[in-house]
Amino acid sequence: MIEFEEILSGLWRFSIPLPDNPLRWLNCYVIRPEEGRALLIDTGFNRSECLQALSEGMAALGLEPGNTDVFVTHCHGDHVGCAGNLQDMGCRILMGRVDREIEQTMRRGREEFEKRAVAEGMPREIYELTLLNNHGRRFPSAAFTAIELEDGDELEYGSYHLRCMMTPGHTPGHLCLYEKEKKILFLGDHVLFDITPNIIAWPWMEDALGVYMENLRRVRDLPVDYPLPAHRKLGTVSLEQRVDQLLAHHEARLCEAEDIIRRSPGVNAYDVAGRMRWKIKASCWDDFPPGQKWFAFGETLAHLDRLVASGRLERTVTDGIARYKVI
Ligand SMILES: [Zn+2]
Repeated sequence: MIEFEEILSGLWRFSIPLPDNPLRWLNCYVIRPEEGRALLIDTGFNRSECLQALSEGMAALGLEPGNTDVFVTHCHGDHVGCAGNLQDMGCRILMGRVDREIEQTMRRGREEFEKRAVAEGMPREIYELTLLNNHGRRFPSAAFTAIELEDGDELEYGSYHLRCMMTPGHTPGHLCLYEKEKKILFLGDHVLFDITPNIIAWPWMEDALGVYMENLRRVRDLPVDYPLPAHRKLGTVSLEQRVDQLLAHHEARLCEAEDIIRRSPGVNAYDVAGRMRWKIKASCWDDFPPGQKWFAFGETLAHLDRLVASGRLERTVTDGIARYKVI
């Protein structure tokens, strides 16, 4: 049984389950004006449980695929997964140009990710295991065509006037949607409230965490009464407070990584990841579920990249493996 929530007149939320995934569910938002096209934001993985919830949700809200636009905030499988199916049903797909390009060239991206992972000390067999357990890679979208969007592009659905805000960090081309008059910000995975968005190192970004933190500051002071995240519960604190919590969290994690490296100069990133503290039900690094190990490792790398970019760490490569020391 799907539960619906009417956030404002004509603006709805319903949950799409993400089975066996720590994110647990996706918040799918729908703008259904009295007249004209409707908008649905983010889709879930390309798996039957998500598709079923999506179809039920759309039917219950009276959305006709031929009259519905689907906006995808970023290229991760839990957001773009059903885009192909929805297009086959007759929906139009809208997606940021940068993440669309990544979504289309993932094969090249995988090679880049693998090269970096191995050069940062991740054993190749562990890398293979993390791949097999990555839901985004197991349940990608079928092929679709998309209308590509840029920062500042505007969309209109009834009385909702939305502006695309490029907020890279979680992915290189992540887009939020801002409704200035109604003070709504559709956050995608840029800001989540009861979990911390995963920020990993991307082959196309020298300092993903630095860029992410900059873009947190970009949304922090916007007048927003409805900050709407793509996962988990809606916030009980303001957007400004949550951004400050996330910035403080990353500052603390930067210090934690720096301390580990100070105690073990010459350590590689994979070993740093194993020594960081993680909120997860695993007794030790070796017991981490492989899918989660990828996110923890990627997150560690993003923190090391930030420390290198800000002149706090030195990275040197010997015998094909990068090693770190505090400057
Ligand atoms: Zn997500």
